[in-house]
Amino acid sequence: MVTPDGLTLTCKQEEGVAEGKLRVLFTREDIREYVNELALAVRRDYGDKNPLFLGVLKGSFVFLADLVRAVGFPLEVDLVRLASYGASTYSSGQVRMLLEPTIPVKGRHVLVVDDIVDTGICLRYLLDYLADKGTASLKVCVLFNKKERRQVQVRLDYVGAEVPDLFVVGYGLDFAERYRHLPDLCALEMQEDSGASQTR
Ligand code: 5GP
Ligand code: MG
Repeated sequence: MVTPDGLTLTCKQEEGVAEGKLRVLFTREDIREYVNELALAVRRDYGDKNPLFLGVLKGSFVFLADLVRAVGFPLEVDLVRLASYGASTYSSGQVRMLLEPTIPVKGRHVLVVDDIVDTGICLRYLLDYLADKGTASLKVCVLFNKKERRQVQVRLDYVGAEVPDLFVVGYGLDFAERYRHLPDLCALEMQEDSGASQTR
């Protein structure tokens, strides 16, 4: 188990990026391009449907905020919060819903908006939960996809970019609540001698 205490993080948080063990994978410009491409595709399918965008907290809050402004059509927003990670870099495999939707999803065109799909366990749980509630349609929009890490099957309807099997932070994504503010997506590289492992 990787704990924040087990790491010596030498990155300069004020500077934000590319110091110490943070390595930029996608710049803010790259990310803006992915978000705009996703917004175009989503607009084609949902522009006249008054959909319900369901953001998955906490990681997707930055992406959701950028996406809703990029799509440029009327929609509603709700939030759910799932937890499986705790303060580590690997999934516990146990999902809990810490916050349920407050807008009824029955009969709605629901688009789940998530930051990154790794094992797929969280998303599978959420999709099963929503499918039971009788949505008019149910699709998934994720910014980042770690395809090679998948453990359970989930259909992703809109994907911004594929990322390699690395633990990433920034653009809303955290490690033990740190790094969410970074505008770029960075790989958080663990030190060999910290006892940390990249194997999650
Ligand atoms: P999954 O259930 O697909 O394994 O992971 C679900 C959630 O874990 C994601 O929505 C995201 O919030 C978090 N997660 C997965 N991979 C990463 C990662 O590389 N970095 C961070 N910060 N969070 C991740
Ligand atoms: Mg997430």
